[in-house]
Amino acid sequence: MEEIIIIGAGAAGLCAAWELAKNHVHSVLVSDMPSERAQSNMAEGGINAAFLSDTDSPELHAEETLRAGRYLADAQAVHDLTENAPNIIEQLFSAGMSFSLNSDGKPDVRAFGGQSVKRTFYVASNTGKQLMHTLIDQVRRYECTGLVRRMTGYLFLRLLRKEEQVCGCVFVHANTGKEITFHGKVIVASGGLNGMFGNATGSVRNTGAVSASLFADGVAFANGVR
Ligand SMILES: Cc1cc2nc3c(=O)[nH]c(=O)nc-3n(C[C@H](O)[C@H](O)[C@H](O)COP(=O)(O)OP(=O)(O)OC[C@H]3O[C@@H](n4cnc5c(N)ncnc54)[C@H](O)[C@@H]3O)c2cc1C
Repeated sequence: MEEIIIIGAGAAGLCAAWELAKNHVHSVLVSDMPSERAQSNMAEGGINAAFLSDTDSPELHAEETLRAGRYLADAQAVHDLTENAPNIIEQLFSAGMSFSLNSDGKPDVRAFGGQSVKRTFYVASNTGKQLMHTLIDQVRRYECTGLVRRMTGYLFLRLLRKEEQVCGCVFVHANTGKEITFHGKVIVASGGLNGMFGNATGSVRNTGAVSASLFADGVAFANGVR
């Protein structure tokens, strides 16, 4: 049975496990902390999505996202994200995520940095908390069926390779020091590199150790400027 290894159980890791499970693919979600402690819970402002209207479009959303990112972001990834953003909002709404509503009872949008029109869907000041609540809930349904396995309390150590091809990872238990090996393809979802910066609003438990280890192992790394 093929099992995909997902390093990190924040919003990105949970979304990967959810999507794989919907496609009947097994995954193991490995993280040092439980999802409830991931930085994703801290996000406040909201989630951007441009529904087609007279004033907004996914193209404008992409253009403004690239500009706000000083053109450092991967243009294809930004394009894919902005194209899919309306579907993602609809998917989250259908999955039961609560949103702040407008007077018509529909999810409301507000203004946010770097954008010329209102396109930020939000839940008061706890969008991340509500998002994570929804994702944890959805993934738990697949944990019950065995499509997703959870391994919490494990720190990433290194990749495994066979004839240069990545074929798994080794983790170490944060308390016992016991090592554990998983075999399969790997998705990296270990969050930002907050520990690298003197001042960061993000969780300093995200030390950047995973990215550093992968970089040392020859994996490409982008935009690591301090
Ligand atoms: C105060 C604040 C407000 C924000 N507001 C917004 C907002 O309004 N809108 C928005 O889009 N974004 C916002 N963000 C940014 C957003 O929170 C992040 O971009 C997003 O949560 C990243 O999700 P992630 O799943 O990649 O990482 P995380 O949620 O950080 O998850 C990382 C996972 O990797 C695991 N991990 C890390 N290191 C290791 C290791 N060495 N070994 C094993 N596992 C490891 C962690 O335990 C965790 O499970 C905000 C951030 C902050 C701090």
